[in-house]
Amino acid sequence: MTTLQDCLARDAQDPLRGLRKLFKLPEGVIYLDGNSLGAMPVAAAARVVQAVTQEWGQGLIRSWNSAGWFELPQKLGNKIAPLIGAEAGEVVATDSTSINLYKVLSAALQIAGQDAPKRSKVVSERSNFPTDLYIAEALCRQRGYDLHLVDSDRIEAALADDTAVLMLTHVNYRTGAMLDMAHLTAQARAAGALTVWDLAHSAGAVPVHLHAAKADFAVGCGYKYLNGGPGAPAFVWVHPRHADRFWQPLAGWWGHAAPFEFTPDYRPAPGISRYLCGTQPILSMTALECGLDAFVAAEAVGGMQAVRAKSLALTDLFIALVEERCAGHGLGLATPREHGRRGSQVCLTRKHGAYAIVQALIARGVIGDFRAGASILRQAQDRPGSARTDDHDILRFGFTPLYTGFADVWNAVEQLRQVLAGSEWERPEFNQKHAVT
Ligand SMILES: *Cc1c(COP(=O)(O)O)cnc(C)c1O
Repeated sequence: MTTLQDCLARDAQDPLRGLRKLFKLPEGVIYLDGNSLGAMPVAAAARVVQAVTQEWGQGLIRSWNSAGWFELPQKLGNKIAPLIGAEAGEVVATDSTSINLYKVLSAALQIAGQDAPKRSKVVSERSNFPTDLYIAEALCRQRGYDLHLVDSDRIEAALADDTAVLMLTHVNYRTGAMLDMAHLTAQARAAGALTVWDLAHSAGAVPVHLHAAKADFAVGCGYKYLNGGPGAPAFVWVHPRHADRFWQPLAGWWGHAAPFEFTPDYRPAPGISRYLCGTQPILSMTALECGLDAFVAAEAVGGMQAVRAKSLALTDLFIALVEERCAGHGLGLATPREHGRRGSQVCLTRKHGAYAIVQALIARGVIGDFRAGASILRQAQDRPGSARTDDHDILRFGFTPLYTGFADVWNAVEQLRQVLAGSEWERPEFNQKHAVT
């Protein structure tokens, strides 16, 4: 039996424990939803005020130069690069994940169209995040490609000489399952296909090695594990071998080689800067930089290797404690136990009541979230036996090693035990659905 004392002792020995004070969390809250919206860096509040009152209020338009506003997409991109195994100068922070995915998938289809015109399919995973599938569906319609969706254990088998692009999300948002990026990228290359990776649940959560994997394109999210604030700019990476080959489809003036020449014709900037479109949300960029600076601070205490080690320890502990203390309450585990296949979240399954249990936990200050399983079930009906846990709803808990400790895990599971043991979740107020789950 693991005790709260054991967990407090582990916190005292944790090399990352000093990073907790870089974040502001409300008193009495155990925040297990950093995979959806990361916590606020303490520095962000003052930094945004400074950007508003000084840089905007006093500097006015001069701040594009004097405060470095104009270079923020590249500057922030350089802080993201080491987290994802990319080099400086290869990443920009800009736009949303959805929009960046549109740009890179479009570029990938252009390259495939030139190098391999007979290839007609984009392969992805059926349980990929919906916006990724919607963007891909729209582009496929527009460009005359087929979007071929498969279960995660059928990805390799789906790669063939008609595959133009393999588009995947590295860590699955519903289950926390992590795909083998190096292996699948190698399989795609062997089949002659390009790869697009979505790192929304990976960047800042698990070490990523885009170059080592020989990936082609990647996008990711700024407001999840990077703690950039609601609607923070996302990021985009294109391998240097492709970056200059094509215009990206949203060829706005910020991606122009010399935007302030105001020429009527478009001349793309060299490298990743052409993946910018229009004027950037500077205030959001300043908040995102504070989130990224927490990873700069983490470098001094072990960096992403230490983050990963703690993430696995936290998720192992959560799984063990739930199985020890909440047994007999109908909970299952959707997240792989195998470390190599696990991201930084744990998803529990339950046939009924998952939404209400999450609501009851939130009322007790333990913030996780709920994801429905039913839509996947409907799609999976054409393949009997493929639904597995999909007829169960999901209770999702994200673990952010920068600000979550072992005692937090113990206390969260104790609250979950009490919610289940007292049937507290059956109360009507916990069974009313809100717009955002
Ligand atoms: C969170 C997430 C997104 C979010 O896209 P937005 O454009 O920021 O709304 C996209 N894809 C995946 C896989 C995600 O997890």
